Amino acid sequence: MKDGPDLPDLSSVPARAGAVLVVDLDAVRGNWRHMAGLADGAECGAVVKADAYGLGAAPVARALRAAGARTFFVATIEAGITLRKGLPDARIAVLHGIPPGSAPDISGAGLVPILNTPGDIEQWQAEARRQGRPLPCFIHLDTGMNRLGLTPAEVDELADDAARRLDGLEVQAWMSHLACADDPGNPMTARQARSFRASLARLPKAPASLANSAGIFHGAEYHFDLVRPGIALHGGNPAPWMSNPMAPVIRILARIHQVRHAPAGDTVGYDATHRIDRPAKVAALGMGYADGYPWRLAGKGHVRIGGHIAPIIGRVSMDLLTVDVTEVPDRFLAEGAWVEVVGPHRTVDQAAAEAGTISYEILTSLGDRYHRVYLGG
Ligand SMILES: *Cc1c(COP(=O)(O)O)cnc(C)c1O
Repeated sequence: MKDGPDLPDLSSVPARAGAVLVVDLDAVRGNWRHMAGLADGAECGAVVKADAYGLGAAPVARALRAAGARTFFVATIEAGITLRKGLPDARIAVLHGIPPGSAPDISGAGLVPILNTPGDIEQWQAEARRQGRPLPCFIHLDTGMNRLGLTPAEVDELADDAARRLDGLEVQAWMSHLACADDPGNPMTARQARSFRASLARLPKAPASLANSAGIFHGAEYHFDLVRPGIALHGGNPAPWMSNPMAPVIRILARIHQVRHAPAGDTVGYDATHRIDRPAKVAALGMGYADGYPWRLAGKGHVRIGGHIAPIIGRVSMDLLTVDVTEVPDRFLAEGAWVEVVGPHRTVDQAAAEAGTISYEILTSLGDRYHRVYLGG
């Protein structure tokens, strides 16, 4: 156990801040370079949907652009319009296609829609006719996930009459998405790649894109021309079958608001779920489930104080956590002191495992109450 707080420089954090989210943009850049290296020749894009997995699309995307990323993926048109303001010269692809009537907004912001349905294709062609110029797009082929993308029957129809059905469109990529890439033993991944290749062979030539973060670890036959890492850039473990090869990106720090000595026999928190069995020190920290700390981590989560791991006891409140700090020396327990809730020593993946969820959900649930500190970039 390390004795002493190894926290980042928090001198810029106002005294009134209750909890801090530190985002290490140098780590984001390093993670992108790592993935670009693995992709070995294929273009490495960057998925920054859901406000860059909760970490802030504008600063994260700026850092990724500076690292060399040229193609960005967002879920919604709204996110694309916002992202465009900070990325005047990048390609921004929108995963959710073209909700009816929204083609002019997509074109107006210079976004590239990912066409998922024959209706999307027709809308984008109509927009191209209206403007009298070819319009760029990606086209998504479903290879078994049954979520978004042209069905196999729709791919057949497209392949049979491609010149007419793609008239007016500049297809910049054929795309598909892997369902099980984070499970290395799952035969579905190879099956999807085979199906994707078979479709590509029947369609007009254009770059192809299949792999998300986990898919990139499956090797060169999954890389095609453009890879789409998301979680890996944001520090989550993209390859759960091995220890996390990515640099940690975030730290979450909460302040100690109060420390008390509680006698044996007392209880802690709502519903009195935790009973103290020996005299204990209990600290109340300034974050809760409203900051994305999972309510399910009651009695399961841990935080790190001055090198000591301290357990969450009792319920997680909306704005507070209670932890047992009996074993932590008093010099780390001043009112206002910082406690590491997530960081290099308590990772997002650990918190997710303890809560029975995935790192993606922990990150995208963080919310907007944190004082945010962006390092490097
Ligand atoms: C979210 C998403 C990605 C990125 O997935 P990660 O597992 O976060 O790397 C890639 N492609 C599509 C279509 C996605 O929806």
